[in-house]
Amino acid sequence: MHYLSTRGTIEPIGFTDAVMMGLATDGGLLVPATIPQIDADTLRTWSRLRFQDLALEVMTPYVGDTIPREDLRTLIERSYATFTHPEVTPLVETAGLRILELFHGPTAAFKDVALQFLGNLFEYLLARDGGQLNIVGATSGDTGSAAIAGGRGKERIQIFILHPKGRVSPIQERQMTTVLDANVHNIAVRGTFDDAQNIVKTLFNDLSFKSAYHLGAVNSINWARILAQTVYYFYAWGRVSGGDLARRISFAVPTGNFGDVFAGYLAKRMGLPIDRLVIATNRNDILTRFVQTGIYAVEDAVHQTLSPAMDIQIASNFERYLYFLHDGDTVQIRALLADLQASGELTVDTAHHERVRADFDATAASDAETLTQIQATAAASGYILCPHTAVGVHAAQGQADCVYLATAHPAKFNDTVCAAIGREAPPPPSLQGLMEEETRCVELDATAEAVKTHLTAVLSPVVR
Ligand SMILES: *Cc1c(COP(=O)(O)O)cnc(C)c1O
Repeated sequence: MHYLSTRGTIEPIGFTDAVMMGLATDGGLLVPATIPQIDADTLRTWSRLRFQDLALEVMTPYVGDTIPREDLRTLIERSYATFTHPEVTPLVETAGLRILELFHGPTAAFKDVALQFLGNLFEYLLARDGGQLNIVGATSGDTGSAAIAGGRGKERIQIFILHPKGRVSPIQERQMTTVLDANVHNIAVRGTFDDAQNIVKTLFNDLSFKSAYHLGAVNSINWARILAQTVYYFYAWGRVSGGDLARRISFAVPTGNFGDVFAGYLAKRMGLPIDRLVIATNRNDILTRFVQTGIYAVEDAVHQTLSPAMDIQIASNFERYLYFLHDGDTVQIRALLADLQASGELTVDTAHHERVRADFDATAASDAETLTQIQATAAASGYILCPHTAVGVHAAQGQADCVYLATAHPAKFNDTVCAAIGREAPPPPSLQGLMEEETRCVELDATAEAVKTHLTAVLSPVVR
């Protein structure tokens, strides 16, 4: 399998380069040259597999022969051994809702499904091909802890995560700063999340610094993350349908950067019998407006909501969908992106908008609706939804045969849970005792210079 850029101006590359590169060098996102088609017999066979064996099958056509099958199997087994549920992503039924729980990994949010795998994959490729990787990222909460959990203790990898001091929740902060592995470097910057993100951008834009210090990213644009997330759509379909090809199911997907729902779209394009993919957004509803109008228009500011992991202005994976929507016509993609750059919006034509509406439904939920949904579900069944999952359940009301993706454990958001139902969700083991554990973190001014100086000091013994 070869990978191309959505902007069409790089030579085709292999799976290893696509994973190590993250973003294409022309600024586009990497996409597979073709989407593998899974036939009916294969789907029936896959419907009976356990999660890890299914992951091996789903990933194999994308990985090709770049990783021997037994090695890939080992990577997958290791990645999901850290999950506390034997099914990895179990499907639970409660009060008429089918909920796919994606939060049984080390940080109790769905990003673990992809980042546990990505950490092992990076380590494997670096050991095989030589080199080292210094991951640098900024976080407002969930991504940082999942990236740290995926990278801790890995050979040839150092990981630096910037968070805005005092502006992430105490639990989220502790999930990062209590990880004491020597290769994990937490940095609290005296500023906002935007400051932290701008610092990271500045470092990556300094190309000579970036290459001298082997900087890499783990944000949601890495193709391996999409791939790992595609697996649980197949898994859920197998559990619901028992392999009956006539059984089409829908998915409600709490959406921010469009990574998760894009993985569902990929599964559908591979031939999985998916009926509707429901994009669920909070007040940051750029994607919902796009599905309804065909116009993708950036707003002035990000709104803070009760589902913070979905507080985004521009959905970084959206460009991948645009590419497949336009059948890989990169000239058209470049024109649309130029519009977006120039005016803050892009518009797809009527025929393409029809296809968008055939691919997706979309609904936005307000904070009030989010609270009401948590309350209603708890009242009906005792099941406690996290606020992100509640946005999804709200969005897909009335959808027949729907699976709701549960993207985080509710105990990560107990302030909101308490506001909705007057009591807290009991924490899973991974969130217990965090407030008493030892922490390590440095505090720096919110300037690129300060962070650069720190990185250089930490890395100088390794970079010779
Ligand atoms: C990241 C995240 C999302 C949004 O996922 P995307 O792939 O960015 O659309 C939803 N819920 C939770 C809890 C998250 O951490």
